[in-house]
Amino acid sequence: MTKRSSAYRQLQLKYLEAALPPLLESARAADWTYETFLARALTAELDGREQAALVRRLKAARIPAHKSLDGFDFPFQPTLSERRLRELADLSFVRTCTNVVFLGPSGTGKTHLSLALAELALQAGHSVLFTTFADLALALDSASHPGLLRSRLRRYITPSLLVIDEVGYTRLTPEQAKYLFDLVAARYEHGSIILTSNTSFAQWGTLLGDEVLAMALLDRLLHHAEVLAINGPSYRMRERQMSLPPLSPSSTGSPPPGVA
Ligand code: ADP
Ligand code: MG
Repeated sequence: MTKRSSAYRQLQLKYLEAALPPLLESARAADWTYETFLARALTAELDGREQAALVRRLKAARIPAHKSLDGFDFPFQPTLSERRLRELADLSFVRTCTNVVFLGPSGTGKTHLSLALAELALQAGHSVLFTTFADLALALDSASHPGLLRSRLRRYITPSLLVIDEVGYTRLTPEQAKYLFDLVAARYEHGSIILTSNTSFAQWGTLLGDEVLAMALLDRLLHHAEVLAINGPSYRMRERQMSLPPLSPSSTGSPPPGVA
């Protein structure tokens, strides 16, 4: 047994080692052929490896919350095409290094949809990194020397899909505008970006504090991109309104029953 354990370890078949006792039991009970047994044993090892890789990718992706397209109330946002979102869910945008930009006011589901697509990409085997623009700027601003800045930039350049959430809530410093440009330029035709913003493209010159840089950045960001503008109500407001108690008679002037 010890010898066999070490063989599994040497061959790095730890998932097969764990799965073997129940597999052997099923094989004996159901009289599996050698072929069936071998196929199931190899599948157990492969499934274990895939699962472990998914857990690693999920951890590295820093996804802040679990969201799905099925959990999105499309009729609530009629300006958004459900069909386009379902098409994006086939993830060809990741394979073709196409960017996705969600534009719209707060509470319209930009982060929700980005997270849902990011999770699908992870499950399909792509590497993903989620960041808000504020966190990205902080990580790059705090790099104390050029070597560290380069290695931090690399962290955002390497994944197949980078989500940059909440661009535009604050005006960018010249350094931050430059980092964002460097990042978009480095990923151009190499990897996808999902970017969310509440600021229309016409205002990006002001946002970045530099019209020329904004033009050059948008040129690269939008060359291969799907832009989805969501012009609708805030779902947060809807949830808040639904959690409020219905108007009581007292609020309309007459006392509730039994109250003098
Ligand atoms: P934004 O990023 O545009 O400000 P969020 O995606 O953060 O908005 O949405 C705010 C909250 O409302 C989240 O909890 C999100 O899951 C939820 N939400 C937004 N739009 C919808 C929708 N159409 N259907 C279901 N939940 C939604
Ligand atoms: Mg958001």
